[in-house]
This record gives sequence, C-alpha cells and structure tokens, in this order.
Amino acid sequence: MSYDDDNIFAKILRGEIPSMKVFEDGETFAFMDIMPRSPGHCLVIPKTPCRNILDASPAQLSACMATVHKLANAAMTAFEADGITLQQFSEEAGGQEVFHLHFHILPRHAGVRPGPPGIQGDMDEIKANAQKLIAALGE
Ligand code: 5GP
Repeated sequence: MSYDDDNIFAKILRGEIPSMKVFEDGETFAFMDIMPRSPGHCLVIPKTPCRNILDASPAQLSACMATVHKLANAAMTAFEADGITLQQFSEEAGGQEVFHLHFHILPRHAGVRPGPPGIQGDMDEIKANAQKLIAALGE
C-alpha cells in the first residue's frame, strides 16, 4: 500500500482545502473533524506523508503522540470532559477512510456514547469548539 498525495488531509496540509486548525508545530497539524462524533472531536496528523500506523516512522508517531497529549489535556479543560477516547484506524478493513495517518481525539462525558460516524456537524458549533480548544491550549 502506498501513499496517495491526493488524499483529503494532504490537500488540507497543502492549503488546497480549508480546515479549522487548532494547533500546529514543526511536525504535526491538528484540526477539527467536520463530522464530529462528540463535541470537540479533533484530529492530529503528521505533516510528512504517511498512510497509517503500519508505515509510520517512530519519529512521526512520537511527534503525533506529543501533540495528541497536548490536545487531549486541552480538550479535558475546554469541554469539561470526564475522559478522552483516542482512535486510530489503519487500512479499509480497519475502518480507515482517509489515507493519511491520523489520530482521533474525542472528548467524552460520563454516560454519553459517541455519535455515529459520517454525519456532517454544524459548522458554527465546530468553529466555537475550535475556539474553546485554542483557548485551553493557551492556558
Ligand atoms: P478515518 O479515516 O479514521 O475513518 O476517519 C476520517 C475522518 O476524517 C472522519 O472522522 C471524517 O469525519 C473526517 N473527515 C473526512 N473528510 C474531512 C474533511 O474534509 N475535513 C475534515 N476536517 N475532516 C474530514
């Protein structure tokens, strides 16, 4: 399986399609999922090409994990969450739909199940949640 430069997250990284960025450093980029399964659902990706966990380098994984850690803690604060679900799907059989490595961060509240995948969120609500995350990252 090889990396396809035309995947949607590669286009986001190149600025060819818009995204709601919440954080970036030299190696990683974090932005809101437009079909959130919980309020504040965001994604962390490496800036360098990588299909999924199977071809990721240790450097890509460790850079992503550092950003996941930062975002997970910010999400706990921003959404007064009770916990975090971290998801990563590799290859179609593993549930992957976009073939650039990404980690899902889902803020969770006790007793509330994540919503179904594939449902477009309210863009104003997602934007407001991005602002909350950005504010919590700055604290
Ligand atoms: P996976 O490949 O792990 O199954 O999930 C891909 C994720 O990307 C889904 O949660 C989906 O909602 C999200 N997604 C798909 N297209 C876009 C897009 O154009 N922009 C953003 N921000 N997220 C997307």
